[in-house]
Amino acid sequence: MPELPEVETVRRTLNQLIVGKTIDSVTVSLPRIIQRPDDIDAFAMELAGHTVIGVERRGKFLRILLDGLVLVSHLRMEGRYGVYQQHEEVEKHTHVIFHFNDGTELRYKDVRQFGTMHLFNAGEELVSKPLLKLGLEPLDPAFTVAAFRDAVGKRMTKIKAVLLNQAYVVGIGNIYVDEALFRAGIHPETIAKTLTAAQLTVLHEAIVVTLQDAVDAGGSSIKSYVNGQGEMGMFQHQLKIYGRKSEPCATCGTLIEKSVVGGRGTHYCPKCQPLL
Ligand SMILES: [Zn+2]
Repeated sequence: MPELPEVETVRRTLNQLIVGKTIDSVTVSLPRIIQRPDDIDAFAMELAGHTVIGVERRGKFLRILLDGLVLVSHLRMEGRYGVYQQHEEVEKHTHVIFHFNDGTELRYKDVRQFGTMHLFNAGEELVSKPLLKLGLEPLDPAFTVAAFRDAVGKRMTKIKAVLLNQAYVVGIGNIYVDEALFRAGIHPETIAKTLTAAQLTVLHEAIVVTLQDAVDAGGSSIKSYVNGQGEMGMFQHQLKIYGRKSEPCATCGTLIEKSVVGGRGTHYCPKCQPLL
């Protein structure tokens, strides 16, 4: 599943590709992608005639801003956007097509069909599901050490599970949580409440640096993930712990272990990240 850096990369790419374009019509061939409104004809009719004015992100959700409307889109496992000319062949698994009045199209393709789209009047999206009750945005200036400590420091569950919970901090998934905990030298099964103030400060920094480095590299290409323009992210080459089971730790040479924490495959160095 794309995490914050991958979604941010898609956001930036779409910002370059679709801002200023006006939707002529919309074709939906898999209705369940459209979660709001209930009726796909209403979805298409509402969007017609609207112009894209920007693409923003909240956690792992894209917010496609139009004049007066906001389309909230979650790529889930394998959702992808691409911009095409009308005459180009429509690939298999393309479920939604936004036809622009300049002869180009924004196409949404999703092999696994788990992606979602919600359409709102501008502003409504921030006080409605699915964006309602999302946690701190880790690359936002408001993500201070104090805010992070307040959000996670009292939790009686394993820190990995806490960080994956989008109600506390958004955008971190299985890859970047393992990377951030490794960078911070914290075992994934440590109960959040037992972390010291110093550890929480180090972890806060590790989350920000890990995500920012990944954003700078255009995200990671794990499995078949590519960004909105079809380019592969490069951060997978910088992953230090994720996917490296039985390889020597880059810091100490101990073999990296893999276990299951909160139902998720979890990579850690038993020496650099001791369970205290
Ligand atoms: Zn190590």
